[in-house]
Amino acid sequence: MKKRIIIAGGGPAGITAANLLSAEKDYEVILFEKTQMLGGIAKTVNYKGNRIDIGGHRFFSKSDWVMDFWKSKFPIQGAPSKDDILLNRKVNLSEDPKSLDPEKEDNVLLIRNRLSRIFYLRSFFDYPVSLNMNTIKNLGLMRMFRIGMSYIAVRINPIRSERSLEDFFINRFGRELYMTFFKDYTEKVWGVKCTEIKPEWGAQRVKGLDVTKAILHSLKKIFVKSNDISQKKTETSLIEQFLYPKLGPGQLWEFVAAEAEKRGAKIVLGAEVKKIHTEGERVKGVTLFDCGKNKEEYFECDAFISTMPIKDLVAGFDAKDDEIGRIADGLVYRDFLTVGLLLGRLAIENETKIPTINGIVPDNWIYIQERDVKVGRAQIFNNWSPYLVKNQSHVWMGLEYFTSEGDEISSKSDAEMAEFAISEMEKIGFIKREDVIDSTVLRMEKAYPAYFGTYGELDRIREWSLRYENLYLVGRNGMHRYNNMDHSMLSAKAAVDSIKNNFSKRSEIWNINTEEDYHEEK
Ligand SMILES: Cc1cc2nc3c(=O)[nH]c(=O)nc-3n(C[C@H](O)[C@H](O)[C@H](O)COP(=O)(O)OP(=O)(O)OC[C@H]3O[C@@H](n4cnc5c(N)ncnc54)[C@H](O)[C@@H]3O)c2cc1C
Repeated sequence: MKKRIIIAGGGPAGITAANLLSAEKDYEVILFEKTQMLGGIAKTVNYKGNRIDIGGHRFFSKSDWVMDFWKSKFPIQGAPSKDDILLNRKVNLSEDPKSLDPEKEDNVLLIRNRLSRIFYLRSFFDYPVSLNMNTIKNLGLMRMFRIGMSYIAVRINPIRSERSLEDFFINRFGRELYMTFFKDYTEKVWGVKCTEIKPEWGAQRVKGLDVTKAILHSLKKIFVKSNDISQKKTETSLIEQFLYPKLGPGQLWEFVAAEAEKRGAKIVLGAEVKKIHTEGERVKGVTLFDCGKNKEEYFECDAFISTMPIKDLVAGFDAKDDEIGRIADGLVYRDFLTVGLLLGRLAIENETKIPTINGIVPDNWIYIQERDVKVGRAQIFNNWSPYLVKNQSHVWMGLEYFTSEGDEISSKSDAEMAEFAISEMEKIGFIKREDVIDSTVLRMEKAYPAYFGTYGELDRIREWSLRYENLYLVGRNGMHRYNNMDHSMLSAKAAVDSIKNNFSKRSEIWNINTEEDYHEEK
């Protein structure tokens, strides 16, 4: 008798779990995905032949297992991609005999250079901010002096007990640098003050980075040129190259899911897990709403892997625990909205020395820190992969807004939202209205699990979940962790390993932190 494993959620975590389990003969795997698409936040939406990557997903990890998993699905490019050819650009190519030519094959990982800058005071700053003539010119000597002094001050007298994200940033970057480059943007993302956010968010995202490491990294860049894609010694925030599926991240996740299906896994789209039924300290089955059949269905299981938001999971549990219910209900999420804009040209010029097709700016994405607009980031999809864009003479942008249910932005209709984004981009000089060819709006709920609300009590949810011997909480919203795809995949792998080992070591899933693993191992 095969053991039936039910997975809720078809994002990177759920798909990884389904793929790994389907390779084992002892399991019957069923994955339920509530939307009509696979890939979760890392899906790729095809809008009239132009593809949108929600968020811009760099395929990069310090975990060898993750990198090898991706490379085992799609080989790395062994010949130049379309833009390299058009620009006559010299690039690193894989010498692996299995490598493929992206001009001829689709299932290929491109090697991309990362460039992202900050747009502030109507000027571009390097990201991470570096100490160069451009920065000095844009900020002015007086502000540079204040930044230096406030950094020295905090090194001499740091905030002893970091209670908030503000304290975390000030201790690593000094008050003035924090006020200039971190405060406004972070508050745009979260919609609350940095003093209300837990310092753990900084530890998760900024990780080991501080001013000293950023400066050492800039110096190293001048003297040491490395072609090694693993970039093991580089802080994650500073990596300069990444892998990228030719047609966006969703292409790879759809492939990994299809591989699982070929091996017998059942993947059901439009199926939302609504209720979780227990018997003592076991999950015995789930009820889902299948929107294709327009009815509820019950499925028994031997183990349940949940990547659905903790808030929804706890609400769907038949065994009620008031305290756990209160904590889960108090978890907060930020939603995400992307306006895709297709343009004939950009109004803003490429002032860098990096050559680009039609002279567009060379960035993958740009942080928009200007206070007079609500847009948070601008993606230039052409620079992620030329194959995301149907016509190479067009500019395909994604304008990103961070929203909460019912707020001013999320309440706008798609047409109002597109109009709003166009007027904001025109206001800061990026585009001219007459160059807009087409637009579309995508909304992604619960894209960011917040480190405020009842986040501080999350340990109790973890303890509660571990009481159920065949329940696995994995992935981003599944564990309420602001993580990347690699962490989601590693948590899914740990769940699969536990299931294979008779449901042992379940608590270890909560100890996975890709950055720490790296430091410990190496
Ligand atoms: C703006 C942005 C940029 C990012 N950039 C990067 C990057 O550069 N590199 C990187 O590695 N990561 C990046 N990430 C993070 C990455 O997107 C996530 O870590 C990853 O997608 C999480 O995978 P997951 O499977 O855990 O969750 P998700 O991707 O959230 O997938 C969960 C799935 O579960 C489904 N679901 C929810 N509830 C139910 C239910 N009740 N029943 C059935 N299905 C359900 C959802 O519809 C969804 O498809 C970025 C994220 C954002 C928002």
